[in-house]
Amino acid sequence: MQQGQALSRPEKMVRLASWLVALVFAGLLVSLGELVIRDLFYLPEGGPPQQEVFRQHIGLDPLKRQQEQLQRQTEALRAEQEKLATTRGQLERGYQTQRQGLDNWLASRAVTADAGQSAEVLKRTRALDALQAQILQWQKREDQASAGLLALAQQQQALQGRVGALEQQAGRQYQQAYSRFELKVFALRLAVILPLLLLGVWLFLRYRSHRYWFFVYGFGLFSLFAFFVELLPYLPNFGGYVRLLVGIALTVFAGMRMIQAFQRYAEKKRVELKQSQSERASHVAYPKALQSYQKRSCPSCDHQYNIAGDDADYCIHCGLQLFRVCACGARNFAFFPFCKKCGGAVARPAALPDHPASKPE
Ligand SMILES: [Zn+2]
Ligand SMILES: [Zn+2]
Repeated sequence: MQQGQALSRPEKMVRLASWLVALVFAGLLVSLGELVIRDLFYLPEGGPPQQEVFRQHIGLDPLKRQQEQLQRQTEALRAEQEKLATTRGQLERGYQTQRQGLDNWLASRAVTADAGQSAEVLKRTRALDALQAQILQWQKREDQASAGLLALAQQQQALQGRVGALEQQAGRQYQQAYSRFELKVFALRLAVILPLLLLGVWLFLRYRSHRYWFFVYGFGLFSLFAFFVELLPYLPNFGGYVRLLVGIALTVFAGMRMIQAFQRYAEKKRVELKQSQSERASHVAYPKALQSYQKRSCPSCDHQYNIAGDDADYCIHCGLQLFRVCACGARNFAFFPFCKKCGGAVARPAALPDHPASKPE
């Protein structure tokens, strides 16, 4: 990944292809992880609790049936009351008509008062009385229906109160069960994803420069994505804490590792600088030489050597010989194997007598 310019063309292609493989590998794992995380929702108790089950369990169904029955009774009674009212109305109109008839008849007969007619008057009056009695009876039945409706309404109201209380209770029980279920699912998801994240970190620390490094990188990317992104939509209220705490722990860990790595590097350099010039020069590998030349840094102490000018032959920081003149007269970087003018082998500083300034004690 570093020293990109020091790579040959095929090496660059392989590196690019490796990164592609790493990304594709990570992408496939992410899709797989998504499926697994989603399906873990149905693992505990075969799925989330059902609200209907709690309503049945608490005994709401018989009360609901009772409510329906009361409703039907009320409707029937109301229909009957209407029918009674209609009939009474008809009877009252009949009474009015007959009464009017009698009054008219009496008025026309008043002048010629006839004893034989009193029987007819009596008969008609009795008929009217009977009709009146009938009307009263219907009125009474109507009143009874009204009383019945009132009683039914009171029963319905009482029942509604009980149903409401039970519904609230069932709702609370359902909420509690759902919270417990959510917690279980989260614990399960965490139990799957967190070890993957730790495995990804361990693999990265241990095998990041392995021949198959791109699988390690792919897996690492996947584990980070799975933990910090895929788990996100399914976190319960407190889930954010878990995510943040793990994130903080990882950041602290990474920071400490970085400082430790730098300390190891500084210690290595300190020991290295105590060695003779030839020993130090013999440690400089070809890729390192290419990288140093391109960056104009000393391959031993990693400082810029050209601050003293591009014609500097020795590192002004550690005294290492950096350039030497070939037999053909060309000036070559001392760590390249061949002369740029004649192609002859460049003698490494190792083969030279040590420069007097190469032992900074
Ligand atoms: Zn140096
Ligand atoms: Zn030469």
